[in-house]
Amino acid sequence: MLDIRPNHSSSLREKQIDQLKNQQLAAADALRVSFKKPIISVQSLTKSYHIGSMTVPVLKGIDLCVKEGEFVSIMGPSGSGKSTLLNVLGILDRYDDGEYVLDGTLIKPLSETEATRHRNHLIGFVFQSFNLLPFKSAIDNVAMPLYYQKVPRKQREERARKLLERMGLASRMDHLPSELSGGQRQRVAIARALVTDPPLILADEPTGNLDTKTSEEVMELFTEINDEGKTLVVITHDEEVAERTRRVIHLQDGRIRH
Ligand code: ADP
Ligand code: MG
Repeated sequence: MLDIRPNHSSSLREKQIDQLKNQQLAAADALRVSFKKPIISVQSLTKSYHIGSMTVPVLKGIDLCVKEGEFVSIMGPSGSGKSTLLNVLGILDRYDDGEYVLDGTLIKPLSETEATRHRNHLIGFVFQSFNLLPFKSAIDNVAMPLYYQKVPRKQREERARKLLERMGLASRMDHLPSELSGGQRQRVAIARALVTDPPLILADEPTGNLDTKTSEEVMELFTEINDEGKTLVVITHDEEVAERTRRVIHLQDGRIRH
């Protein structure tokens, strides 16, 4: 039978169907995640900075669990402790009290060497200012972490090349960072984070220096990486960026807001 109802009702129905589909997808997602094991487990974690005789408490008792395969954003105002938290999660910085277990290992007792090994094996980093080596080509920048893992030259180049191709940078392999746009530099940095195939990617304001369209492209890339099974924790103060992740954690004055 011919549907003679006005158009708006059918589009309303489509919207409702879409909504239901989305709810089902979200429920399936939540279920999928609830069976996974935690990769990041933080309890009552504190950290202060010491400046002269002054103690500045920055993280004031953080409880946080991120499971394998999650795509999480951490939002909060400037100075709320986001970068400090990410540096602790990335074992780039020490914490004072509480507990941090990364992929089943308690971090505090690790020696410097063990911590570095753990970090290199488990984590890829992406930063706001890209942190590329200025006098190295895109391909050399991407291959660099493999050099430290003593991977032979040919394999290093092959893996870096593949990743840069995937990032749409096949024609930019031999360019220096200064010869690339902001978006291209960030894609080089993402390729570098992925080159050792770590299960966890930590990103500190990865879209902070990018325009809206380029930010969207980076988030699209992160979504793909997450779909492939990697865990992502992304710091941002951009609502639109946070909306692209699957869970938003709010940090305020060194505490997680519930
Ligand atoms: P966010 O990334 O949310 O902007 P940060 O983690 O960078 O916040 O900083 C949190 C607080 O810690 C700020 O008050 C900042 O001034 C202070 N801080 C950050 N790094 C240091 C440091 N190395 N030494 C002393 N204080 C610091
Ligand atoms: Mg910061």
